[in-house]
Amino acid sequence: MLELIKKNIERIKSKGATYVDTRWYPYEETNSLTMWNGNLKNNEFSRESGVGIRVLYKGAWGFSASSDLTDLEAIYNKAFDNAKVAAKRVTFPVRLAEKDAIIATFDSPNKINPFEVPLADKVAFMKDVDEMLNQPGIAQRIASLQFVRKQIILIDSEGTEIEKNITEVFSNLQILGTDEDGETHTRQYTLGREGMETRGWESIRKELFAENAERITREMSEIIVAEKCPKEDRSVIILPDMMFLQTHETIGHPLELDRILGYELAFAGGSFVTLEDFGSLQYGSKKLNARADGTLNNTPGSYGYDDDGVECQNNMLIENGVLVGAITGRQMVEEANIRAGRQIFKESGGANRASSFYKVPIERMTNINIDPGNDGSFDDIVASTEKGMVVSGAKSWSIGSNREQFHFATEVGWMVEDGEVKGMVRNPTYKGDTLKFWNSLSAVGDESTWKVAYTDNCGKGQPNQIMQLGHGVPVCRFDDVRIGE
Ligand SMILES: [Zn+2]
Repeated sequence: MLELIKKNIERIKSKGATYVDTRWYPYEETNSLTMWNGNLKNNEFSRESGVGIRVLYKGAWGFSASSDLTDLEAIYNKAFDNAKVAAKRVTFPVRLAEKDAIIATFDSPNKINPFEVPLADKVAFMKDVDEMLNQPGIAQRIASLQFVRKQIILIDSEGTEIEKNITEVFSNLQILGTDEDGETHTRQYTLGREGMETRGWESIRKELFAENAERITREMSEIIVAEKCPKEDRSVIILPDMMFLQTHETIGHPLELDRILGYELAFAGGSFVTLEDFGSLQYGSKKLNARADGTLNNTPGSYGYDDDGVECQNNMLIENGVLVGAITGRQMVEEANIRAGRQIFKESGGANRASSFYKVPIERMTNINIDPGNDGSFDDIVASTEKGMVVSGAKSWSIGSNREQFHFATEVGWMVEDGEVKGMVRNPTYKGDTLKFWNSLSAVGDESTWKVAYTDNCGKGQPNQIMQLGHGVPVCRFDDVRIGE
């Protein structure tokens, strides 16, 4: 197969293509299970395989994909024909930033292959967890497990030969409760890195789930009897299980370079960030250091090499509050530099990824992280807060299409008065203007508050691509934030 791929790449190249690549997925399998109130609701399996081929001809892309590999030559011809048609209408010829030709293998860290674990063991685990969630006042209980396993082989006309073997495990617990007004509330626990160095079946640890099941059921019993969230301006102290979403929506998405260049306007939206902003925009306060780190161990945002064959990197996005970088791939960095008339980006940031063999790679988040700061532990931050609200758990979100404003509802809010955590409030919300909000960042928790959250459902692109990634974030405090509306 590899020889056939290389032969076809050479053949299309000899016809005048400037670049040809092939992503061959020998297999990609998924298994997802949901238990609802103690009953196994579904146990779904999928398995697919195939090739996706990109051809660059006279500055235009052509793409073709198929799971039927009996006539490989025809798939290459189709991609080449598509590029030839597109070349007639090209307005801004595609150029690819320089890269090294890499021959390498990447294996995501895991010990026990979840696809070899008997179904009975998976169901027994979920049943145990469900029993822990089955407490007085809990109206609905939902537990889910999701496993992904895939092999991707990338070959291109510049000498790249990369093999990736990736295993992912995701899990979520959710409970629903009803308050005296008949309104429903949710509380969730989503499995993150949790100090684990590997992510096979071994990351589904009973003690960890027991601890969190106990916590969320206890919190739910407080949520349903809590006072309503007041409408006023306060500091908000955001825990990592909400901070990851704040970072995702108002740093991650606005800093995708294709979005900045207007390529996602029709569907995902644009960005308030412009090319002139790099190197000067005060995105946040001096306490803000954000990075795209594709090298962090054991998260879905670290995948070795992107679909352009560029190695994952650890790049600063925002340094001491100033915007310095973006989430980039080979094509967009060239276009951005040309359009800006200066070299903003030295090279690709290795963030071009497709969600399957039959989709084209686009710029996707790696691990979009906030560095730990010098403001101590969670308790230290609370102690130095006069009037605040601690928020946890993403409940709903609404974000301006250029990411300039946002409104979040969280599952839990605890009032802070004079340096102490007081009671819980019902339906906590907060909102803000992205730049004003990040510039009001007044405390960043230390390493003890820093956690890596996994995201398995980031949507972008047309047709839509669902991508998996991570966010390493500390506890953060922002001042003068509007809450409760
Ligand atoms: Zn997203």
